[in-house]
Amino acid sequence: MYNSRRKPAEDVPMELTAIWSCSNDKCKGWMRDNFVFNVIPVCPQCQSNVMRDERMLAAVTNTSPSQIKI
Ligand SMILES: [Zn+2]
Repeated sequence: MYNSRRKPAEDVPMELTAIWSCSNDKCKGWMRDNFVFNVIPVCPQCQSNVMRDERMLAAVTNTSPSQIKI
């Protein structure tokens, strides 16, 4: 699923990231799936329903326990 090997113009590695995007056409609200803690999230800006989507975003450190190494 990841295309992180493809080097973009900038230094920040990009990866296809699961997001939630607002279903409201007039709203550009979206959020990373990583930061969603509700089972059924709503748009942080207009409280509309959000839909699962994917987007190329700068990779961020994932703090899920499986990646924490001491
Ligand atoms: Zn919205």
